[in-house]
Amino acid sequence: MYRIYGLQLLLEDTWKRIRFPDILRVFWLTRMTAQAVILVYVVRVVRSESGLQLGWDLFWDLTSNLIISGCDSMLTVLGMSAVISSLAHYLGLSILAFIGSTEEEDKRLGFVAPVLFFILALQTGLSGLDPEERLIRLSRNMCLLLTAILHFIHGMTDPVLMSLSASHVSSVRRHVPVLLVSLVLFALPVLLSYVLWHHYVLNTWLFAVTAFCVELCLKVLVSLTVYALFMIDGFYNVLWEKLDDYVYYVRSTGNIVEFVFGVIMFGNGAYTMMFESGSKIRACMMCLHAYFNIYLQARNGWKTFINRRTAVKKINSLPEVKGTRLREIEDVCAICYQEFAASARITPCHHYFHALCLRKWLYIQDTCPMCHQRVYIEDDGHEHSAFSNNNGYVAPGQERAEFEEEEGGAAGGAEPENELLEDNDSIEYDEEWGTQPGVTLVEEEYINDDTDSN
Ligand SMILES: [Zn+2]
Ligand SMILES: [Zn+2]
Repeated sequence: MYRIYGLQLLLEDTWKRIRFPDILRVFWLTRMTAQAVILVYVVRVVRSESGLQLGWDLFWDLTSNLIISGCDSMLTVLGMSAVISSLAHYLGLSILAFIGSTEEEDKRLGFVAPVLFFILALQTGLSGLDPEERLIRLSRNMCLLLTAILHFIHGMTDPVLMSLSASHVSSVRRHVPVLLVSLVLFALPVLLSYVLWHHYVLNTWLFAVTAFCVELCLKVLVSLTVYALFMIDGFYNVLWEKLDDYVYYVRSTGNIVEFVFGVIMFGNGAYTMMFESGSKIRACMMCLHAYFNIYLQARNGWKTFINRRTAVKKINSLPEVKGTRLREIEDVCAICYQEFAASARITPCHHYFHALCLRKWLYIQDTCPMCHQRVYIEDDGHEHSAFSNNNGYVAPGQERAEFEEEEGGAAGGAEPENELLEDNDSIEYDEEWGTQPGVTLVEEEYINDDTDSN
């Protein structure tokens, strides 16, 4: 909802309509050009008088002087943000074109980057610092901004990677650019943190940059692993029942790590506030960080975890058909229309499905996809009204008896799943994560899962 009616959009829209960025950009660029012309002129005069050599040192001095004066007041900082906005905008557009994405949401880099830059400038009091210190602070902010932009770019490439691998696109030309960008996204943070650690001693800033870099590398690894899993799945062309689980494990591991980093960054921010600079803006940013990166992530992760857990529980309470009896059925799964390779689950209404297919369905709905009866009956499940199979086939008597027996057992026990699940691997995480008292709540909470979308 907030995407449609949100304050963010209103601000963005108004900002665009008054063409404020354009004015700022023109102002900043003309000011810079004027200063550059004056500086070059002065240098020339001095050179003709004292025979000063033109070299890289001089060039560097001039540029840093220009940059320092380019952010000496709030207005010039705004101008600089506007210039960064257009740079980021075109960078974003070219990357989107390169990886072949058409996502509208992703065109916002031109908005996100300058806002971040400006907030960082406010937070560190950039324009009020001494010239020397200002340059250092600015380059530090730029490093942070760069990592943030890389994170944003990862956000662009991830959906493309997923859609390419999940829809089994075979054209190599579509895959190479995305993989290339992912590779750069992995290599750049490694390089950046290596260089920074080589030149600076540890402080809160270096810590933050490194944490961002490590987090990005991990996110890229998670994306690539999921991508590889889907590619393998597409390559072998048989239903891989465990795929969903593996994807879920990889993604949730990534999300837990991300959450941990969120908490670490919060700690880092708190430390900075207490011992370095405790501005009001920093406090606001910390609150936003706590809400979006910690609270919301934890809540979403927890919701997905619970959904998944209940779905698995429901599936595992249903009787399973295996081996020769499975071949007797001679039927296909009514969800994916593929044959049962290893096992099938029978609903109380006697419809057969792959456990995996049914589970995905149960994330969304509680009823049988064929006849809309409730799939999971908690108290007594003996009221089976429909006897038909997916295509009218009636189950053999033996099987029916077994179904009754298992259903009865499930209904009688206090922990219905226990006996049925001993041979089933997919419940393992459920047991480990859900009911073991040793597992802390903290660990459980942060599993965010996108596997439903595949
Ligand atoms: Zn199926
Ligand atoms: Zn049914």
